[in-house]
Amino acid sequence: MVKILMINLPYAGHTNPTLPLARCLVARGHEVSYIHAPEWQKKITVTGATFIPYLDYPTGLSEQQKKRRCFSAAYRTLRAVGKDYDLLIYEMLFFPAKKLADRLGIPCVRQFSQSAWNQEAFQKLESSSKVFLLSSKLIGKQLMNASAARVMELEGLKLVDSVLNDVPDLNIVYLPDFFQPMRDTFDHRFIFVPPTIVQPQVSSVMIPYKEMTGPIIYISLGTIISNKSFYRKCIEAFADQPVSVILSTGKVEPEKLGELPANIYAYPFVSQLEVLDKCSLFITHGGMNSVCEAMTYGVPMLVLPILNDQPINAAQVVELKIGKRLRFLGVSAKELATGACSILADHEMKERCEEIQQKIADNLKISDAAKAIESYLAKN
Ligand code: UDP
Repeated sequence: MVKILMINLPYAGHTNPTLPLARCLVARGHEVSYIHAPEWQKKITVTGATFIPYLDYPTGLSEQQKKRRCFSAAYRTLRAVGKDYDLLIYEMLFFPAKKLADRLGIPCVRQFSQSAWNQEAFQKLESSSKVFLLSSKLIGKQLMNASAARVMELEGLKLVDSVLNDVPDLNIVYLPDFFQPMRDTFDHRFIFVPPTIVQPQVSSVMIPYKEMTGPIIYISLGTIISNKSFYRKCIEAFADQPVSVILSTGKVEPEKLGELPANIYAYPFVSQLEVLDKCSLFITHGGMNSVCEAMTYGVPMLVLPILNDQPINAAQVVELKIGKRLRFLGVSAKELATGACSILADHEMKERCEEIQQKIADNLKISDAAKAIESYLAKN
């Protein structure tokens, strides 16, 4: 039994993939504590880990205040409690963690909730996606501004440089290995484990699948982005076509989309895994979770990436020939209809999706990540 400390920033996309590891390490008899923001307490304690709330981070902060304060609050908490542990496990977004672990004199393991970066892969990503580079730099600046860096004695430390240069001896990437861009350039320090797929929130809507005719097309832009004009284009594209459409509208209330054609079913939120199990095509923004879920269910994708790592995910989908890509801005209803029809008619693509589904099932599991951590600790 070892004392393991996990730490993260309060972003769902960066935290959710790490929770199964906490649960698995607890189940294997380790004493796990997890430093996080107060609103994550419930999700963390159900894993069996002990929750440690950020210091100097009161409840009731506005979203803006949270964004400004979470980084230094996480840092302070780690400084205060870190030395009592045998191992630190962090997610790449909390990029000074390796430097802090070195200062505390404890080993550390890094997790990636998205594609991993190294110099070669990053250069490729950078040249193929300006959006990606810009988002990474912007996020880094938002997380740790110059004055916060001074207080933490981390002047000059930048997200991109730190992720590329401060490389721990063990890195767990929550991705099937074949989905990692430039996989061959990652050495033995990186292991690839497909994310454990769990429905993040169960929806109360009862979707009337029985009354649907034709193949089902599922459309979602994830949990952060909602776009009324895009949903309207989708409605125009598929109105009265021989397909049924399930549209997850997020923050746009379905009533605001006007009267819907009989073959279009719109809800603010659906149980995505349930829908993926029934649909023939997923029109998606290319969020990492959505893409992994679609691959796990063997569903081809039409990806319209918007920001962050979405363009990279879209490029991988196209390269693996398990979907197609359209630009999000300015896409027309006609392009959506043509893109969807071509995928629905593509039997070879469907077969490739099934092969990918099998490959995922044969990939490493979260217990393999836990075993890798144990053997890493045994060597240190
Ligand atoms: N999701 C869902 N129902 C919806 C919309 C989204 O269950 O109606 C879930 C989806 O299964 C996925 C997550 O929300 O797990 C979206 O994550 P992703 O990384 O794809 O996009 P993000 O929300 O981070 O942009």
